[in-house]
Amino acid sequence: MIGIVVVSHSRALAEAAVGFAEEMVPENSGLQIGVAAGLSDTTFGTDAADIANAIQAVDSPEGVLVLVDLGSALLSAEMALEFVDPETADRVKISPAPLIEGLLAAVVCAGAGFGLHEVAQEAESGLVAKREHLGYGDAAPPTMPISDDELMMMGGAGILHYTATILNAHGLHARPAAALVASLSGIDATVSVSNATIGKGPVPATSLTLLQTLGLRHGDELDVTIVGPGAEDALDVIIDLIETQFGESVSPPQSIQGGVPPTSSTSEPKPTDPTRTGRQIVIGPAHHVSIIPDVSTYVPGTPEVELARLNQVIGRMGEVLEQLERWQPFGIFKVQAVMVADEITQTKLRESIAAGSSAVEAVQERFTALAAELEALPDPYLRARAEDQRGLQRILLRALTGEEFTTALAAGVVIINELDPMTAGSLDPALCQGVITTVGGATGHGVILAQARGFAILTGASQAADIPEGTTVAFDPVSGELLIDPDADQLDALAATQQERDADAIEGARRSHDPAITSSGVHIKVEANISSLQDAVTAMNYGAEGSGLVRTEVLFADWRTAPTAEEQAEAFIAIGKAMDGAPITIRTWDPGGDKPLAFLPQDPEANPMLGERGIRAMRRNSELFDEQLRGILLASQETPVRVMYPMVTATPSVEWARQRLIAQRRSVGGDIEQGIMIETPAAAIRAQDFLDLADFISFGTNDLAQYTMAADRGNARVSSISSGLVLAVWDLMTQAAQVFKGKPIGVCGDMASNPELVERLVSIGVTELSVRPPLVAVVKQAVRRI
Ligand code: PEP
Ligand code: MG
Repeated sequence: MIGIVVVSHSRALAEAAVGFAEEMVPENSGLQIGVAAGLSDTTFGTDAADIANAIQAVDSPEGVLVLVDLGSALLSAEMALEFVDPETADRVKISPAPLIEGLLAAVVCAGAGFGLHEVAQEAESGLVAKREHLGYGDAAPPTMPISDDELMMMGGAGILHYTATILNAHGLHARPAAALVASLSGIDATVSVSNATIGKGPVPATSLTLLQTLGLRHGDELDVTIVGPGAEDALDVIIDLIETQFGESVSPPQSIQGGVPPTSSTSEPKPTDPTRTGRQIVIGPAHHVSIIPDVSTYVPGTPEVELARLNQVIGRMGEVLEQLERWQPFGIFKVQAVMVADEITQTKLRESIAAGSSAVEAVQERFTALAAELEALPDPYLRARAEDQRGLQRILLRALTGEEFTTALAAGVVIINELDPMTAGSLDPALCQGVITTVGGATGHGVILAQARGFAILTGASQAADIPEGTTVAFDPVSGELLIDPDADQLDALAATQQERDADAIEGARRSHDPAITSSGVHIKVEANISSLQDAVTAMNYGAEGSGLVRTEVLFADWRTAPTAEEQAEAFIAIGKAMDGAPITIRTWDPGGDKPLAFLPQDPEANPMLGERGIRAMRRNSELFDEQLRGILLASQETPVRVMYPMVTATPSVEWARQRLIAQRRSVGGDIEQGIMIETPAAAIRAQDFLDLADFISFGTNDLAQYTMAADRGNARVSSISSGLVLAVWDLMTQAAQVFKGKPIGVCGDMASNPELVERLVSIGVTELSVRPPLVAVVKQAVRRI
């Protein structure tokens, strides 16, 4: 394989460029890239001796390609050839290619095993895609990869044609294109690719640059022609790539330790089974899964050995979590990675090893103590975070004892004490019918992740711990009913309910992208609640017409420092784009109570749910609020957005927020609709006061029910008091909706996700329902039945 050297005046630039390009090839590609850049970390310049060293370091019999930025970099590179031995100098090629585009193209091509000549050519055509896109029109015409002679000689025989639809959310962008180039390397076949939808191509499948010029977008038809002895093999590879969305689709890893999941970006597959809404009834054999590691046979070494073991496991776990996050980007593994990397935790672990504990003991002590601290907190949501700590403890112990990070293969109805994110992430939908936790709560991160992946979950069912292995169990995740060894009548009743839900889900999926219109012709907008980019992708697959609630405090939950306006704008734009430019409703920071923000530590309060939550907390932190408004306004320049203020009780806070927005608009520009959440009885009762202050309202029924019924939303003992149809809540909503008649009236609390309540919500004047992403299609169906 050839070597590559990057020569630049700036070390930071060169290292970043190499990091970016390396994303395009597998970690174990074996490709050697040298960097000779800057005179020091911060001083710009190039040095011929450095370049010569870099060339020697990556030299290979196949040659070395040198990419340079500009000016004296080229002169230094030429001079460097005089410093290396003449034999090496002969096989070095200095490329005139643009640095970034050329490097990317070269890395992919070299990684696929091509020779110096092809790699150099590919690098030189690095600008083709950009020029074409910008309409310069003088881009080098893509070479016909299969020559007429070749076709004539074959007389049409042995030519394979294949057509497929591109399912990747962002089309055949650089990463999937790179996967195509890499996967075909070494196969003795000539493959040409066209975009049949817009009639572009063919181009050779060996060229990352030219593949990108095809402009293959989500839904476009890809046309492939293959000739050569390896044609069948090449076709298999291509079919596989299409099916796995070029490594961007997800299928659970069989185990986290062995095969790690593909390093992909943000793509959730199209829902292949529309009935997997998380509402499906589960019937199957009980299968107890123990994730408790057996540490009894662990043999401790010296403190040095223990420390090395610990470091190795923590390092590997960081990588695995990062990969899992790419594969299932719900933000949950990001949070776990932050917890593992926590400096205090790491220091404490090392201190205990230095004091004579084994790595296993250190992990046990530290995470048990952390979990106990969290368990002692009064807030149920924070208490549930103890599960996260226990989950981390388990996977670290498993790794230390040589077991895989998770127990991945779990068939039947999984019964587990609590579900940690790693286990949730590794559940295989083909094997696992549903999950029952015996002690875990409903708000643990593992449960959230598994639900987002379409699994039906029943939480906190302690009686399930004693169910004998293999016994038939059934549960309804909607009603919470659990049946052990159900009789024929019970099974019939469940089957009937299931049939209804399935029919609804299937019909919903068939019509997911049609608007939801009632029988009397009223269009009810069905949107999704978004807490991650992945949610947006999932929601789009289920037909969401935008988002009625972007929970920013969850989106940035793992940030240790507050994101800048630009960083926020980037995230909002990505969500807007993932939703095909449908309007998204960005809620300003709503910290406090059950939603802590790592970068906004709040003073302890006796009753956090009644304390400085939402907009109240912002009045004390106006800079943070201003920065967010600026981010929202910046995003609005690229994608349609609205802003929404949470935890409103009286007009002064809304007047204050509107003034801050006006101030930000003066510098950033833009104009956006402003709405408020009606989630306190005060706001509902005094809705009239807000009529001129809000362009729209959205009922936050989770909090509205909590505050109306004085029932903590996170406390399972009182949750039934405030769930479902509560007339007191209903009256408040009816009253406020009446006041806002004529303006958009939304519901973004969980009530909107309940298909049984949709008709009633519409009857009081609700015009927008923002629901859990996998339930969009089902809720649309409920609207159509009205
Ligand atoms: C609500 O309270 O109903 C709501 C949607 O806001 P959150 O659940 O984020 O508090
Ligand atoms: Mg709320």
